[in-house]
Amino acid sequence: MVQVVEPRHAVTLADYESIADLSGTVRSLRQEAESRLAGLDGRRVVMVNSTAQGGGVAEMLPPLLSIMRELGIDAHWLVIETRDQDFFRLTKTLHNLIHGAGDPNLAATDRDVYDRVSAENAAAMEEHLRPGDVLVIHDPQPMGAGAILRQKMDIAAIWRCHIGLDKETPETRAAWDFLDPYLKPYDHAVFTAPEYIPSSLAGRSTIIHPAIDPLSHKNRHLQVHEIVGILANAALIKPWGPVLTPSFAEPAKRLQADGSWAPATEPEDFGLLFRPIVTQVSRWDRLKGFLPLMQGFVALKRDLETRTDLEEHHRRALQLVRLVLAGPDPASVDDDPEGKEVLAELCAAYRGLPPHLQADIAMISLPMSSKKNNALIVNALQCCSDVVAQNSIQEGFGLTVTEPMWKRAALMGSCAVGIRQQIRPDLDGVLVRHPEAPEEIAETLDALLADQAKREVLGRSARQRVHDNFLVFTQVKSWLELLTNTIADRWPKS
Ligand code: UDP
Repeated sequence: MVQVVEPRHAVTLADYESIADLSGTVRSLRQEAESRLAGLDGRRVVMVNSTAQGGGVAEMLPPLLSIMRELGIDAHWLVIETRDQDFFRLTKTLHNLIHGAGDPNLAATDRDVYDRVSAENAAAMEEHLRPGDVLVIHDPQPMGAGAILRQKMDIAAIWRCHIGLDKETPETRAAWDFLDPYLKPYDHAVFTAPEYIPSSLAGRSTIIHPAIDPLSHKNRHLQVHEIVGILANAALIKPWGPVLTPSFAEPAKRLQADGSWAPATEPEDFGLLFRPIVTQVSRWDRLKGFLPLMQGFVALKRDLETRTDLEEHHRRALQLVRLVLAGPDPASVDDDPEGKEVLAELCAAYRGLPPHLQADIAMISLPMSSKKNNALIVNALQCCSDVVAQNSIQEGFGLTVTEPMWKRAALMGSCAVGIRQQIRPDLDGVLVRHPEAPEEIAETLDALLADQAKREVLGRSARQRVHDNFLVFTQVKSWLELLTNTIADRWPKS
């Protein structure tokens, strides 16, 4: 029921340190860790979540934990496993309610289910804990178990919430009312944005931003040959010569005019390496704003026919520009009926376009069977994009914003909370105020595509912004500070 997971991470701090623009950051992290180790009292840090694989939290924990270990922190990872379907359904409902969606009328039996499974999980976790440990619980699934253990043992407990909504609704209230009793015993909570902190946790919460690993396959630097090789291996370009690496077992696929999916080089090479490219990569979720983005792009192309005021370079950019809308292979969203519905809507909208506009837009399905290949494809797509869009109507944080910012792309984001945290408007990218308004999207894209110098300045600042705030090193620093403060409060030295 509880799995002890070894955080596997192929790179060391010395690897990061050997990279020119990261060496200073790693050095300062080492210094900070050294000065804080005494405050950690040699205590163990035990992180707990509900899955060892799949999902943002499971991806973020290995680099975080292994860097902590390298810095001398005795850090561990436990995964609670429960096959109880009622518990899964309930925690999924709570997750949706915290995002403001779903039926806020929780059943009377829900609390019994949550209490029963939490008690089982607590009993299983207890065997892996020692007095003096600091428990860090991620998201609602293990929260109840953490609360029980905090009351029973001489430990400290922190709750890390990765989700949130920037307003209070009957749905969010229902979720927080349900979770409130379990939150009480916790020493502290951590959120991604101040807007997400529920009133019951005001004054006991800290903000720690999600972060990216600059040496992961999704974010590491790719040489030109690697980019071309990845795009060729994924069938996203037609190579005009031999390619060193073999094709991926599964190609990326492009939606065809007849509604079928074929390797993305069909019906022709899309021009990723030559044309101005606007890209959005996201899950097929209505809140990601794919449809209005497509409509905005269509408006931009349509208006071009009647515009007489354009300079030659600008006109040519608008003539050549193409849009990539990429998301996970539909087969991998089988258990996500809403994702399927959103994708079906997008496919229908695409198929309703005239052939010349279909040629300018690629709906791309990314293979998900190999995590590494998927990451490399996302990396390569972001690298060859002049503009990366994230037109979300709502966004918890938006790693799809952080990732291209790190690659110096010009970002067009929306004002959703998570994106606002990252992009300072007109400094690190531009923000559309109404992600559901195609005309505003068209105008914003038009201005970005007209001005290469501006795109470059935005891209440079975006990278610096990620460097300073959203790399895993900043995250480790924030955790060190929070852990030492929590320990000092929990076990005051007389
Ligand atoms: N992603 C991916 N392949 C896809 C779609 C998304 O690898 O087809 C990745 C994306 O690069 C990012 C993560 O999934 O790392 C999505 O995280 P984000 O915070 O942007 O949004 P969420 O999906 O958690 O709402």
